Amino acid sequence: MAANVARTIRNHTLANVLAVPQLLDAWKTGLDKAHDDRLEYGGLVYEDGGVLHFKGPKKGAETFNMVEYVGKELPAGKNPIAVWHIHDEPGRVGACKPSDGDVSNARNQWGHMFYLVITGRTEPAKGFPGQNRFKDVAPAGSTFKAWYVGLENEKL
Ligand SMILES: [Zn+2]
Repeated sequence: MAANVARTIRNHTLANVLAVPQLLDAWKTGLDKAHDDRLEYGGLVYEDGGVLHFKGPKKGAETFNMVEYVGKELPAGKNPIAVWHIHDEPGRVGACKPSDGDVSNARNQWGHMFYLVITGRTEPAKGFPGQNRFKDVAPAGSTFKAWYVGLENEKL
């Protein structure tokens, strides 16, 4: 569960961010669209005066161009808290987890935010190799996975 991620960004825990229904609603809507369109969708959480704001789901392409999206959608001077994107292939095992590129992105370019990858649930019984690099923070009973991707030395 999200509460186990100890890290905070501008005093927001991941549990705080996930507690806002708008985010889960955006993921549910986005998952349906991503799976219908076979395209990735994405979104953003930012803070303005201590209040969280949510953007997305925004239609992307075969891969979601986060640099372009955040550049356009993050209002000037506001603090980014989380970025997320939805993988578009619910039935393919490899697409149901963060990619190696996602892990690298989360640890480097996007290391100052919570980095989340929303996927379908197709998963080997033993889990994925290297799964200690990310953790499912979707609410219990969800029909999807919400993978939080950790920093290099973060314990998950
Ligand atoms: Zn991805």
